[in-house]
Amino acid sequence: MLPCTKLGAVTPPQSYVDYIRRGAAGGGPRLMYLDIPTLAVVTVFVTALLGILLIFASLQNRAVRAPRLWGLAFVLAAAGMALVIVRGQVPDWLSIQIANALVLTGLGLIWVGARLFDGRPPQFLLIMPAPALWFVACAVPAIGNDINLRTIVASALSAVLAIVAAAEIWRGRAEPLLSRWPTVVTLIAYGGAMLVRIPLTLTVPQPDGEHQTIASALYPLVAFGTLMFTVVLAFLLLNMSKERTELRHKTASLIDPLCGVSNRRAFLAGAERLIAQQRVDGTPLAMLLFDLDHFKTINDHLGHAAGDDVLRAFAIEATRTLGAGVLFGRIGGEEFAALMPARSVGEAAAVAERLRRNFVVAAHAQFDIGIVTPTVSTGVALGCDQHVSVAGLMAQADRALYRAKANGRNRVESATTEAIMPPAPNVEDMERRVWRKVSARA
Ligand code: GH3
Ligand code: MG
Ligand code: MG
Repeated sequence: MLPCTKLGAVTPPQSYVDYIRRGAAGGGPRLMYLDIPTLAVVTVFVTALLGILLIFASLQNRAVRAPRLWGLAFVLAAAGMALVIVRGQVPDWLSIQIANALVLTGLGLIWVGARLFDGRPPQFLLIMPAPALWFVACAVPAIGNDINLRTIVASALSAVLAIVAAAEIWRGRAEPLLSRWPTVVTLIAYGGAMLVRIPLTLTVPQPDGEHQTIASALYPLVAFGTLMFTVVLAFLLLNMSKERTELRHKTASLIDPLCGVSNRRAFLAGAERLIAQQRVDGTPLAMLLFDLDHFKTINDHLGHAAGDDVLRAFAIEATRTLGAGVLFGRIGGEEFAALMPARSVGEAAAVAERLRRNFVVAAHAQFDIGIVTPTVSTGVALGCDQHVSVAGLMAQADRALYRAKANGRNRVESATTEAIMPPAPNVEDMERRVWRKVSARA
């Protein structure tokens, strides 16, 4: 156990203000009253527990493996910090060399874990250089025997590891995880604090003695900062993993697993958004409904797997022809839909016609079918008034699609302007008109 009397020069102060003014045991005024041994022990246990919790969380969700490495990093760092605070009671090579090497290995694991998290090869060898450099530095007598030079080397190595870990997490910023940014900031702040420690160590050198590290004037700040850093970083790393899982579930719920395009839910939600926008800016939108022809026959002759290939081929051709910016999705078995800005129904029908031809060419090249060649029928409708709705536009396009089927398939039919439903009567307007008539008669 820690001998508090030896370590602390911590006589209970008469009052907090008194303590700050006079300083602990005449050691000069201090910024805050912190019971250093207690703080150090708390930091070790909290870091170890957070590490175990991270490992536990990663065992629950085996899809994201990085928290396992991060958890191990915290456990190793806790072991290193534990060895630092028992300095004097264990051999120096344990409480100096091994202790700091463990902390540096922990930071290296945070870095490697960040690589694994973003799908890069973890390259475990990257962990080695920092502890190796540390051992080499300690082997140089001028450094090994000087606590201030040792502190400078350990701080510089820690700073580099924290900053490269931050850079690694920043590299994956294309994935929209909210916790990514505070994690980068936290690691950079830690790296920055370690760098600031270098000139501080030079200006306020630590006395070399039996328990020098823990008794140094900077130790309260270091211990307090480490505790804060540990708690915040563990929370953020865990949250990043949680956000990753949620994002994957959300994406899975919006993507059609067979064709990799939007599913019905995502298409309808996107269509509602576009129609709402259309009501504001008045840009006409065209709904295109696609239905593959004689698809049952294709399945019957070639099997369900080949049918799936035809569906995928159509989705690829549609995405290529319509462009990635156009809302497109699979809304049913062999039915697809697109919603795109168009100045006229003719312009949208021309796009649909281009897709029809491209699909025929692609299907001929890809599938040697013989009896039936995959083709597509399309219905097009244009929505250009304030009262248009997704359901209304789909109904019009569906009627046009029905005509395309009736007229022989493998063709595009458009909803005529007359076919566009008149806007629903405005009840308030009607009431107002009736009221005006009644008032005129009176
Ligand atoms: P039409 O030209 O009138 O549209 O005739 P069709 O045969 O394409 O239409 P029908 O509605 O009779 O058949 C659609 C077929 O699509 C029936 C169903 O087995 C098949 N289907 C639906 N989903 C899938 C799928 O995911 N994969 C495969 N391979 N077939 C599917
Ligand atoms: Mg159908
Ligand atoms: Mg069909």
